[in-house]
Amino acid sequence: MVYLDYEKIGLKCGLEIHQQLDSHKLFCNCPSVLRKDEPDFCVKRKLHAVAGESGQVDVAAEYQAGLGKEFVYQAYDTTCLVELDESPPREINEEALRTALHISLLLNCKIVPITQIMRKTVIDGSNTSGFQRSVLVARDGWIESEHGRVGINYVYLEEDAARKVSEEDWNVVYRLDRLGIPLVEIVTAPDVKTPEQAKEIALHIGDILRSCRVRRGIGTIRQDINVSIAGHPRAEIKGFQDPKIFIDVVNKEIERQKEDLDSGKEGLVPEVRGANLDGSTKYLRPLPGSARMYPETDLPLLKISRSFIDDSKKNLPKHNKEIEKELEKQGLNVEMIKLLIKQNKIEEFKSLLSVLNQPMVVAKSLLVYPREVSSRSGKDSKEIEEISSKLDSFLEQIFGAVKKKQISSGQIKEVMESLASGSKFSEALKMRRNDSGDIQERIMKLLKGKPGLSENAYMGLIMKEFKGKISGSDAMEIIRKFIGKR
Ligand SMILES: [Zn+2]
Repeated sequence: MVYLDYEKIGLKCGLEIHQQLDSHKLFCNCPSVLRKDEPDFCVKRKLHAVAGESGQVDVAAEYQAGLGKEFVYQAYDTTCLVELDESPPREINEEALRTALHISLLLNCKIVPITQIMRKTVIDGSNTSGFQRSVLVARDGWIESEHGRVGINYVYLEEDAARKVSEEDWNVVYRLDRLGIPLVEIVTAPDVKTPEQAKEIALHIGDILRSCRVRRGIGTIRQDINVSIAGHPRAEIKGFQDPKIFIDVVNKEIERQKEDLDSGKEGLVPEVRGANLDGSTKYLRPLPGSARMYPETDLPLLKISRSFIDDSKKNLPKHNKEIEKELEKQGLNVEMIKLLIKQNKIEEFKSLLSVLNQPMVVAKSLLVYPREVSSRSGKDSKEIEEISSKLDSFLEQIFGAVKKKQISSGQIKEVMESLASGSKFSEALKMRRNDSGDIQERIMKLLKGKPGLSENAYMGLIMKEFKGKISGSDAMEIIRKFIGKR
């Protein structure tokens, strides 16, 4: 890649980041679950372009409506009449609103206390109503980067669209499971001046998002980037999963725009382009104008009260880096910390730690053992999943038993194994308790056979013989009891 003087060519980039939130749907109570099974029923529709607030049919909407397709919607027992646009929206999901506020506050934005919920015309069929509901919750923030500060223009709370399952000629099939999942859209100012900075900002915003209650995994975050050089209308490039290809994409887009200008191409207009895997882009459609927004008449003005904002500030989630430091202090190793964050189980970990204050034991029992045990006992992925979540539900009871010394922490996995094989909790515990008494006796016998050694030497002996059957702390307790006695 030739070195480019980004300042000289007047490069301007802005990012738009869409992140699904970890909550039920935005305007109904349906759960945000994506389905892989057959739909319960299907509904057929045709959509028409609707005039926006300005009275004109939006250019992008017109383009799509011109295609005159028939849309099929797959519905499930986890979708309702709201997704089908047969019933008016319910009040906005307060949990999602709180998460949107957290994200906005971490991005140094000002919360907008009273706003009109808007409808954004969408005529590709991905919304049964022909529009997407969107509400501005915050504006005028900023985020710091190594290459300078970048403004955050807006934070919107929106509903996600239905997902396309198939498309053949005039027939497009959508699945309603994704429609209505709460989504936060973050729009940065066009302050980004180099492709490296674009990547840095995207990663930084991603970090902030993951410290809040958001969904994880492929498809839960989508990033668009607006790119323009001096004299060329902007192109909005969609379809990034991975900020690592930002640099390549922006550089290739700059080359394309330079060629447009150098060749004196006429009639250049803003457009939406899709990112290819190799970093090049392809034309998708003209960029939608402001004509596509009009007010949502089924819902009242959204008022965010002072106390709701204050409360959100008080309960602002910590950034992942702070959480990592805190967990390290508690004695967790890096591997466990990463797993905790990746599996989104920090809250669960903290609440279990209040039952049994042994961080490594709690972390392993939460993150490692259930998966190990269930993948050995389950026949297929569905069964493994079931066993694993069954074991999760016993964690509090198991830790309670460890605390009461009914079992040792080294026996947790064995208890899980007998639970997985169908034993009742009391049975699983009883078996271990007998074992535990047995082991204590055997250890005592071992110690009596080697009088006069140090604590460490005894520990070595015990671990050599009883590794995995007893925890270090329980072994130490027995050793001290023994040493105290002599
Ligand atoms: Zn619903």
